[in-house]
Parts: sequence; structure tokens; C-alpha cells
Amino acid sequence: MILFENVSKRYADDTVAVNDLNLEINEGEFFVFIGPSGCGKTTTLKMINRLIPLSGGTLWINGRKVSEYDVHELRWNIGYVLQQIALFPHMTIEENIAIVPEMRKWDRAKIRARVDELLDMVGLEPEIYRSRKPKELSGGQQQRVGVVRALAADPQIVLMDEPFSALDPLSREKLQNELLELQQRIKKTIVFVTHDMQEAMKLGDRICLMNEGEIVQLDTPQGFLQTP
Ligand code: ADP
Ligand code: ADP
Repeated sequence: MILFENVSKRYADDTVAVNDLNLEINEGEFFVFIGPSGCGKTTTLKMINRLIPLSGGTLWINGRKVSEYDVHELRWNIGYVLQQIALFPHMTIEENIAIVPEMRKWDRAKIRARVDELLDMVGLEPEIYRSRKPKELSGGQQQRVGVVRALAADPQIVLMDEPFSALDPLSREKLQNELLELQQRIKKTIVFVTHDMQEAMKLGDRICLMNEGEIVQLDTPQGFLQTP
């Protein structure tokens, strides 16, 4: 469903961040990119929702070229979770989660029901949390909101760029478990970036190890274990 065909990215300063990438990510797959800082993980992710244009090759989503999508349509269908907690501080939790549904002009009742459903999914009692501001939540709670916000309008694909790396080890492990459970229920295609092999092994259906903009190894966690 996401197909990279000879995809390259060269930045304006001539840095080659991604070099001739060929890769297919399947529907419903939990796909993990891993590798050292600067190997091209974030660049690869950002090309999927067109935050960064390609320098070469073709990127396909559902059989259509990413470059040919209406950019709003494309992004509505792709949730995005960042490493830094990226909730708007002046908005309530409900308003934060409702951003994309509001843009899509869902009616009030539908939005409220969806917000409550999403908060429930990650164990945040809607009555208590929907009207709070982000700073009234712990880091782990805020990142839970970040995760469900990306799911709000039921996108087909969710991109996650080191979403848990700013959290303490305990919250991190809890959120990993929650995400795995969530994924089993909602069957989204998740493209997840990390530099933590343990995290990759725990979460990924497949793991793509990158170095200097190229694939070093692409395999299941079992495959990685068996590699000498
Ligand atoms: P990773 O996510 O694996 O840390 P990135 O995709 O962020 O890697 O970066 C890959 C390479 O591209 C690095 O060498 C980085 O310095 C470079 N790079 C990233 N963004 C830009 C940019 N906007 N302009 C120039 N070089 C960039
Ligand atoms: P990551 O956490 O993926 O390693 P970085 O901290 O390297 O990301 O980069 C953060 C942001 O800065 C990204 O949006 C990336 O595109 C941009 N960036 C990274 N390297 C460069 C660079 N050499 N020149 C300009 N922008 C860069």
C-alpha cells in the first residue's frame, strides 16, 4: 500500500539523506525504521505525508503517486505523531483531538463521541480529561493524547517519529504495550521511527535497519534475532 520506488532525497545543501530506496509497506503492518541519528529515518517518514518533496523516484500510496494527491486529502488520511509532545497548550484536550475532525466539518455530536471514545481507548476518563489543558496532564498522558489525536479522523496510515523517546522508561513501556493492543484492535498501517532496537523488536512486524540513507537489513524481529 506504501511503495517506495527508487526514492531519493537530496537536500539543498547536497546532503543525500535517502538514496535509491526500494521498499513496500503492507496494509495493516506495523513497520519500524531503525538506525543511527542522521541515517534518513525522519526524511523517509516525512516524504510519506509530503512534508518533504522527493528528489528522485516515485512514492505510491494505494496505487496513486503521492505527488498527485490533493495534499489535504493525503494528510487527512495520514496521522502523524511526533517525538516532542505537540499538543497546543492553550487548547483543551478535546479541542486538541478535534482538530482534524473539525477541519473535516464533522458535526458536534460526532466529534464529542469520537473524542470520548479515543480518550477511553488510552485509559483517560473523558469526564475528567476532555476539558483539561495539556499542562494539567503528565508527559505520558499528553503523549497518549498525541497518539489518539493522530487517530481522530480514522486515517488509514499513522506515522510515528520516536513518539516515546522523551518519556521515562516506565511510561514508555506502558505506552508501547498500549500501542500494540491498539494496533491489534484498529489494524492501521503504522510506520514507526526509533533508534531503540529493543523498541523495534517489541513493536515491529518488520524492521528496516538504515544507514546513510540506505537499507542495511529488512526483516522480521525473528529474522534479526537469527542474524549472527
Ligand atoms: P534521522 O531521522 O535518521 O536522524 P534525518 O532524516 O533527520 O535522519 O536526516 C538524514 C540526513 O539528512 C542527515 O545527514 C541530516 O543532517 C540531513 N538533513 C535532514 N534534514 C535536512 C534539511 N532540512 N536540510 C539539510 N539536511 C538535512
Ligand atoms: P532526528 O530527531 O530525526 O534525528 P534532528 O534532530 O536531526 O531529527 O532534526 C530535527 C529537524 O531538523 C528535522 O526536521 C530535520 O529535517 C531538520 N534538520 C536536521 N538536520 C538538518 C540540517 N543539517 N540542516 C537543516 N535542517 C536539518
